[in-house]
Amino acid sequence: MTRPFKIVIVGGGIGGLATAIALRKGDREIIVLEQSSLNREIGATISLQPNASKIVEQQWGLAAELKARGSMTDEAFQVYNLAGELQMQIQLSTLAKYGGERVVYHRVDLHEALKKIATSLDHPGRPATIRVSCRVVTCDCNTGQVELENGEKVSADLIVGADGIKSSIRRAILGKDVPAQPTGHSAYRTVILTSELLKEEEFINVVDPRKSVTTMVIGHDRRLIMGPARNSSIYSVVALIPDENMAESSANSSWTTSGDLDKMLKSFEVFPEWAKKPLRLAREAGLWQLRDLDPLPTWYKGRAILVGDAAHAMLPTQGQGASQSIEDAEALGAFFAEVQVGNLSVREVENINRAIFDCRYDRATLIQSYSRQSAKPATDPGSIKIKMNPAEFMDYNCFYKGALDWQRRQQELNRVEQKSVDQCFEALRIKA
Ligand SMILES: Cc1cc2nc3c(=O)[nH]c(=O)nc-3n(C[C@H](O)[C@H](O)[C@H](O)COP(=O)(O)OP(=O)(O)OC[C@H]3O[C@@H](n4cnc5c(N)ncnc54)[C@H](O)[C@@H]3O)c2cc1C
Repeated sequence: MTRPFKIVIVGGGIGGLATAIALRKGDREIIVLEQSSLNREIGATISLQPNASKIVEQQWGLAAELKARGSMTDEAFQVYNLAGELQMQIQLSTLAKYGGERVVYHRVDLHEALKKIATSLDHPGRPATIRVSCRVVTCDCNTGQVELENGEKVSADLIVGADGIKSSIRRAILGKDVPAQPTGHSAYRTVILTSELLKEEEFINVVDPRKSVTTMVIGHDRRLIMGPARNSSIYSVVALIPDENMAESSANSSWTTSGDLDKMLKSFEVFPEWAKKPLRLAREAGLWQLRDLDPLPTWYKGRAILVGDAAHAMLPTQGQGASQSIEDAEALGAFFAEVQVGNLSVREVENINRAIFDCRYDRATLIQSYSRQSAKPATDPGSIKIKMNPAEFMDYNCFYKGALDWQRRQQELNRVEQKSVDQCFEALRIKA
């Protein structure tokens, strides 16, 4: 007697919901266990880079759903200095070569759209079930059983740890806690109404907040990153500061807190007056102490595997955190594609988990390291370890066509390298 393959996904963030979409197939049973009530995603925007937007919008077919919620294709990126002078402007139409765009969403919109497709009856495969207020406390990776805070046990053939930077599944896989590292940076995030910003002449003389352009203002050790979202009805600001400026008291213990608007403004007092206008209009702001993980020794054990921030939390400097969660999700979908029934032994599931890890690890780790490196000032010589320049790195990130294609390219590369090693040995043998 066969039963459908059963999957428990711990965490209903972007990574968890994306994994539910990628794994939906046939009669597989998918349950997402989420600790919160899922009612409050933060008021902020998020961008997906071409490598991930083409998976979400094209491969999974969410483009229309997201467009209806006001998604915007970023058209240009511009950088100003403290004197308010334009330093650089890049037209993002050049991204077309990657087969996808850099797309900006309100986080709530992306999350809601993913949730809708994961659970909708109108898509192929049995819809995923989301259980909220279910906090997972432990996981037995070999039997594939998680235990909830209330003592309930839930078993599955595959456990996906999509439970973010403080992951409990990571603890179960590694057998110890691996805390995320403070990186010396914090970020305020706020969203204001574009209609209010349009009344600020000083600002609109420099930047049109309705245009799909990301504007960065850099000064000393801090930056403002701003741009429109939701069909230009809102304008989002991320304000990066060094940690020691994060005066809000609870931030060190909780990593996120509500930001003090006066302190936020004070942190940018030397910035041009026009650039501070959005900060002055903010009614509330969130404050994040930015943490990332050192590369982990592994992401899997037995029936359990990590995705997203649980596996490779990274700094937002490349805008790749959620994008890498989506690549992970797509990889799970591809590598488990042939598995329909729940009769796989723990070794068989572990072998597939290992193949996913082997395919994903180097890529996600390089992007994670580069994100850390680009947060450091260029004057810190010890920080420059990855030699690719930003354009090469953009190519590395964005010429991505899914996990199986990546695996094939890596195998090809290894074959070429092995061939040249063999040729060297052969040449030496002939010489000798
Ligand atoms: C300031 C800032 C800006 C960013 N900008 C971008 C950007 O522009 N582009 C980009 O790609 N990335 C960006 N990121 C990174 C991105 O937000 C994360 O990489 C992404 O949200 C990770 O998704 P996730 O699903 O892995 O984790 P999370 O979003 O953290 O989701 C984890 C989920 O698991 C749940 N959970 C946790 N523990 C348990 C448990 N024990 N039991 C059950 N449920 C649990 C949580 O409640 C949560 O819902 C940014 C991050 C920051 C801080």
